[in-house]
Formats: sequence, C-alpha cells, structure tokens
Amino acid sequence: MSTPDEARRALEAVYQRVEARAADISGTHDWWPCRRGCDHCCRHLAAPLPLTELEWRYLEEGLQRLPAEAREEIRTRVEALARQETRPYTCPLLDRETGACRVYAHRPLVCRAYGFAAARDGGLFCHFILELVEKHGDADIVWANQDALEDAVAGLSGSTRPLPEWFARSQRQEP
Ligand code: SF4
Ligand code: SF4
Repeated sequence: MSTPDEARRALEAVYQRVEARAADISGTHDWWPCRRGCDHCCRHLAAPLPLTELEWRYLEEGLQRLPAEAREEIRTRVEALARQETRPYTCPLLDRETGACRVYAHRPLVCRAYGFAAARDGGLFCHFILELVEKHGDADIVWANQDALEDAVAGLSGSTRPLPEWFARSQRQEP
C-alpha cells in the first residue's frame, strides 16, 4: 500500500505521461487545433466530470488557490449542474469570460486526455479534430491509450464519481 505522497506522485506521473503524448501529437502536427482559449469541449460536456478520490483531492488543491469569490462562484455552478437535466453541460470550473480552465494544473485525467486519446470503444475527440484528421490523415498519430490511463488512475484510488458528488461530500465534511 502506498503513502499519500507516493500516490500523489504516481498520479502526477500518469498526468505527465498523457501530457507528453499530447505535446508530441500537437508538436508534430502544426494543424492541431487544441490550444489555450479553445473551450468548446469545456462548454459541451456529455456528463459532469468523472474523478477518482485522489484526483478530487488534487483538484481541491487547485480550488484552494483560487480567490474566495471564484470558489463561491464555482460552488454555485456545481450546485446548478447537479440539478441540470439537459445536456450538454458547461464545466463549472471554466472561466467563461476568458475560456481558460481555472484549475488547469490540477485538472483531471479526462480533461488532459481529451483530444489526444483513444479508448477501446472509440476516440475522445471533438468535431474540430475529427474534421482535421479526416483531411490530413492520422496514420502517423500515436494516440494515448485511454483505457490504460484510466486503469492506472483507478489503481491508485478506485473508481470515479461525478464532480458534483465530490463537492457535496466535501461540504458535508466541512465544520
Ligand atoms: S478537444 Fe477540441 S474543443 Fe477541446 S481544446 Fe481540443 S480542439 Fe478545442
Ligand atoms: S476542468 Fe478545466 S479543462 Fe476540464 S472541462 Fe473543466 S474547464 Fe475544461
């Protein structure tokens, strides 16, 4: 059994693996569309973000670094998200004015891999990528293995729960 520090380092190692793959793909294809300010995927989530417990604790570190006002705004948006019945969802962690992720350095695997990973049941790509891949071809692209990444993260702290559930749990634990 690993210590909390070891588990955290192992999570960061998985994150670095996927980031290296993403850097390789976008660095070798000048037409790659993922870039800062492209927030279409963050505004069109098919479901609230899934995170493991370790990922949630890591994300919480990013939340704690935000100004109180931003944290309160996020909390309100997460509560609204939990009640929302229609899709798609806009991520409550997105700065809607700038299109930047407010917890970028602490975002979970699903965000890091999106656009750069393929799973057994298909790739995790937006329509911008699909159209460009159709045009340029993907024979030379080595996608990150989403299933292997998910297994690695789940191996550190178990299965995922949706973001609103982690928020609700942490609120129940607050004094
Ligand atoms: S996955 Fe698609 S929508 Fe998201 S940043 Fe990349 S190009 Fe933009
Ligand atoms: S956590 Fe950040 S990167 Fe992930 S969907 Fe939300 S705003 Fe986008």
